[in-house]
Amino acid sequence: KRLILIGPPGSGKGTQSPIIKDEYCLCHLATGDMLRAAVAAKTPLGLKAKEAMDKGELVSDDLVVGIIDEAMKKPSCQKGFILDGFPRTVVQAQKLDEMLAKRGTKIDKVLNFAIDDAILEERITGRWIHPTSGRTYHSKFAPPKVPGTDDVTGEPLIQRKDDTAEVLKSRLEAFHRQTEPVLLEDIGLCFIEGKINVIDYYSKKRVVAQLHADKPPKEVTAEVQKALS
Ligand code: ADP
Ligand code: ADP
Ligand code: ADP
Repeated sequence: KRLILIGPPGSGKGTQSPIIKDEYCLCHLATGDMLRAAVAAKTPLGLKAKEAMDKGELVSDDLVVGIIDEAMKKPSCQKGFILDGFPRTVVQAQKLDEMLAKRGTKIDKVLNFAIDDAILEERITGRWIHPTSGRTYHSKFAPPKVPGTDDVTGEPLIQRKDDTAEVLKSRLEAFHRQTEPVLLEDIGLCFIEGKINVIDYYSKKRVVAQLHADKPPKEVTAEVQKALS
């Protein structure tokens, strides 16, 4: 399967990804994770991305498209992939289509993690991550057995530098402007070229499944499985 996960920061994309990945034998490509790794390693790409990331703004389309194009060549991605946090703009979506067309494939499903902004601040500020595995915890909703420690490896957990209430505001603003749909019911399926955003773009192709991302993790997993069956 070739899947896209779309949702605001904290909507649960990273929490659901490992479950979907294992069930369908897919690779997990999260542009945010790849960019953070590049920043940490101080690669030329990381140096270019850092400023925008610190402010919660999007990095340039060319940069992320390049990362994805490269990553999709990995052997582990040949059975299919989960794109987490990409595409975030219509330009990225169009470039992705071109990339897939060259490979003779296309996107099977877009999972839209729908959730109100009001819930996200608590989720984001309580998020703890095991950097090497990507396992995600929450100080209140999914606490690790030992505070600050990964359940599986015993290694320390970290908090992301941009997981603050303040940076979340710009990340949400970017999400609403570029990624989220205007109400489909209001405009029908006729879009004005250049005005549509990412979810509209895929709605037109009729591949979007809506999830209630405000439900408990297990219920969201059940909705994901239903959408993919
Ligand atoms: P995203 O990858 O979309 O930014 P995460 O999966 O990292 O979001 O989730 C953000 C935080 O919220 C994490 O700390 C995670 O443990 C917690 N979380 C994820 N899904 C749920 C849920 N359904 N209910 C409550 N908390 C959740
Ligand atoms: P979130 O928790 O908001 O889903 P991510 O880990 O996906 O965050 O992204 C972190 C940051 O990396 C974003 O704020 C943005 O600066 C950058 N980024 C990640 N993916 C993209 C993308 N597809 N296009 C542009 N910028 C991106
Ligand atoms: P506080 O003193 O703020 O109440 P706690 O006693 O709950 O904090 O935890 C002490 C430290 O343990 C925190 O500063 C943090 O480093 C870590 N910690 C707490 N909860 C978690 C969690 N769910 N995941 C990871 N680390 C945590």
